Amino acid sequence: MKPFIFCPICSQKLEPAVLEERNRMLCPKCGWVHYSNPLPVAIAFTRNTNGEVLLIRRAHEPAFNQWALPGGFIESSEEPHEGCLRELWEETSIEGSIESLVGVYHRESTMYGSLIAIAYRVLACHENICINHEVFEAGFYPADSLPEVTIPLHRQIIEESLANS
Ligand SMILES: [Zn+2]
Repeated sequence: MKPFIFCPICSQKLEPAVLEERNRMLCPKCGWVHYSNPLPVAIAFTRNTNGEVLLIRRAHEPAFNQWALPGGFIESSEEPHEGCLRELWEETSIEGSIESLVGVYHRESTMYGSLIAIAYRVLACHENICINHEVFEAGFYPADSLPEVTIPLHRQIIEESLANS
């Protein structure tokens, strides 16, 4: 993630400053401070009634062409579980219901910076998959013969979900 150079409020060049013992970028004209906070992401560990796990093969960066769990950024004004079900629906047309929280995770992404990922166990209401442009393919797979998931966070969520179910 590239740092801000100019103030987004008044266009003045930002200057480095130490505030509350952290290095920040500060606007010397209007006092705007760039607080660098993590972006929230929701991830869906989704199963059908047979216990098979829904995976997608990503058609965009990061992790282009990699198998993954459906998910994406939570929108403003949206509950985390709503963002989870929305992303699931947008990517696969699967409607689901939240079963439980898997966990909350922090990761540093080279593309997006600091992320907080909130992962839910989701029960699929049906199996009529229809993918969108973000996905090459999607399907339900038996837990003991999943396509290889290389994204460390997604692998961890899958392992923790299966271990606690
Ligand atoms: Zn300013």
